[in-house]
Amino acid sequence: METDTFDVSVSAEEKEEMPKIWNFSAGPGMLPRPVLEAVQREFLDYRGLGASIVEMSHRTHAVEAIVESLTDGLRGLLAIPEDFEIFFTQGGGRTQFAMVPANLLRGKTGAYLVTGLWSAAALEEARRIGRAEAVVRTEGDVPDATECDWPDAAYVYYCDNETVHGIEFSAPPMAPEGVPLVADMSSNFLTRPIDWSRHGVVWAAAQKNFTPAGLTVVIARRDLLGGLLAHMPSMFDWALYAREKSMPNTPPVFQLYIADLVAKWVRSEGGVEELPRRALERSSLLYEALDARPDLYVTNVARRARSRVNVPFALRNPDDLADFIAAGEREGFRQFTGHASVGGLRVSLYNAMPLEGPRRFAEFLRAWRP
Ligand code: PMP
Repeated sequence: METDTFDVSVSAEEKEEMPKIWNFSAGPGMLPRPVLEAVQREFLDYRGLGASIVEMSHRTHAVEAIVESLTDGLRGLLAIPEDFEIFFTQGGGRTQFAMVPANLLRGKTGAYLVTGLWSAAALEEARRIGRAEAVVRTEGDVPDATECDWPDAAYVYYCDNETVHGIEFSAPPMAPEGVPLVADMSSNFLTRPIDWSRHGVVWAAAQKNFTPAGLTVVIARRDLLGGLLAHMPSMFDWALYAREKSMPNTPPVFQLYIADLVAKWVRSEGGVEELPRRALERSSLLYEALDARPDLYVTNVARRARSRVNVPFALRNPDDLADFIAAGEREGFRQFTGHASVGGLRVSLYNAMPLEGPRRFAEFLRAWRP
């Protein structure tokens, strides 16, 4: 079972083939077309084994090989040091909001940088588990160099990219000496390198960029494992996942399989050295078009905090929203309305989005008239 020789790189023909619609969903988001085609090709008969991958026990060599290949692939792509464990859990991002304090609090306080909806939700969840406080709250921006004055901080927590508000850190925030920094990278995972010297834990719910919903990747420094609070469910224990190679129970095999293909695709596209360049190029096209027409469009995020993957904006006149959406759909654009909590519009541009998508959307922004 040679999973690592499986080639999912894009052929020249596939590169030329443009989608009929442009899917700007914030998540679950677009996956690379060559990956979906590979999945389709081998869905009924996984690499000559005579059964589909979704029909196989997780105790088979085939599935173990997928997890190993995925883990090794991520370690290589993101240059994850050997003192970090890589493992996969279920329950999505919101379950991880609880697992972070359950594993790290140890009677201390969780210190949260609240920059938008998802860091606020993580703080609320942590408060169900133990003591947690907002060190700083910002709206439409990231905090300046943060002074964390919680003497008993167990960890400092931030959301690297706020998917709803389109706010992204350009560099990791500061944490006091010896206090681990924890990052939620659900919506910008694999869009740039990660500075491991600054982080204790990085985690990502995978459904934006990486695989269908149902898988969360956790990358945690080994010395931070083993501290699960006594009254917590054993399935919250990061150390258990690390020890059992992500299989303390039946894992989501299909999600692991697709994630492995996506990791290979990322490598074939030039890895996290090339993808940040593309993310910047895609999002800049939209920000330029929005900035050019302040009479029509409103953006509320400070320039330094503008997300490269989620571009939220509103119409100067909200009464035009339905017309704008209908006009966009006629152009073939889909899933570009804002999150229910903020309204307006949002264009999401994950790794699989060809440059042509935002290029066309930018043209549309320039041409649209109420
Ligand atoms: N964190 C971020 C940054 C997110 O964007 C989301 C979901 N969009 C979550 C956490 C929550 O993930 P889930 O829906 O898997 O609970």
